[in-house]
Amino acid sequence: MTKIYDFKQTINQEELQKTAQVLRNGGLVIFPTETVYGVGANALRKDAVDHIFEAKGRANDNPLIVHIHDFKQLDELACDISEMEKKLIDAFFPGPFTLILKKKEVVPDNVSAHLDTVGIRMPSNKIAHEILKCADVPVAAPSANISSRPSGTKIEDIKEEFDGKVDIIIDGGPSDIGIESTVVRVIDNIPTILRPGKITPEDIKDVVGIVSIDKHIFEKAEGVVRSPGMKYKHYAPKSPCTLIYSDDEKTQIDLVNENITPGTVVIGFKEHENKIYCDQFVAHGSIHNYDEISHNIFTLLRKVDTYNPTQILIEGVKKEGIGIAIMNRLIRSSNYHYIEK
Ligand code: AMP
Ligand code: MG
Repeated sequence: MTKIYDFKQTINQEELQKTAQVLRNGGLVIFPTETVYGVGANALRKDAVDHIFEAKGRANDNPLIVHIHDFKQLDELACDISEMEKKLIDAFFPGPFTLILKKKEVVPDNVSAHLDTVGIRMPSNKIAHEILKCADVPVAAPSANISSRPSGTKIEDIKEEFDGKVDIIIDGGPSDIGIESTVVRVIDNIPTILRPGKITPEDIKDVVGIVSIDKHIFEKAEGVVRSPGMKYKHYAPKSPCTLIYSDDEKTQIDLVNENITPGTVVIGFKEHENKIYCDQFVAHGSIHNYDEISHNIFTLLRKVDTYNPTQILIEGVKKEGIGIAIMNRLIRSSNYHYIEK
């Protein structure tokens, strides 16, 4: 039986202790972070980590991110941390930032999918911090969603798909950022973004003066890639999706209208609601506020499926700032059906 604890208003201390105990003892807990919800297990217990892969139906060559609450845990899990890596840690921990580091033996092979590295993140969300602190073990946690589905950013969206598969679900309200962390690996002393997120290339450049972006961010990845997660179908609603983008706003609206067929749902800018002629229009946010779009996007990708549309058209955003991360996720949601003019 899965228990749901409501921490939206206050963190109940007794339930916090129980949650920590479950994690230490090898159970599974869904918990909020500032990016998306995670499904977590004691990262030092291989058997517990195996249960995450089972619960999600996740491919076992897709490694997990390990969540920590204290800088001291870095030395337990990783070694040979360079000056550049230290600077990134100082700048972006705690926060929506994952750093890939050389792993120590103590990290089980299933966490890192047999790579010699481990992704580490220190969430800034208060509930996540309290759980990690109270459990006092590193917690491996991928996004809380059945593999290939949009990541969970609200308990209402995911409680059914995890009911009976996890021990505890912590409700902390909707995720603040709404898309997953920026994943970075320092390669030849250059911080390389393997997955874009709220921490942007500019943010990284401001700290260390240099940044590179992996070429697979907007392309289909196959075979050996630096971040195995890039190979998989991800973030996808059940109905077919097309992503549409133009630098010119009027052209973008025209493109959307040209592609509408009966039963189409459009996810687009609220400013375009009266200019797009479809059966159902759902606003992902404002053309002037990409943070709003990132906050809303995954829950909307789930919601539109409930309308049983014949197709979903999504208005894309400029690939700058957090727009890079939004487009990275939307290109995958649409299974690379992407129209740009
Ligand atoms: P998720 O936990 O669902 O947010 O996915 C974690 C992402 O981090 C995936 O895209 C993984 O490929 C990536 N990742 C985790 N650990 C590593 C690692 N050691 N090396 C490269 N990428 C990693
Ligand atoms: Mg995921």
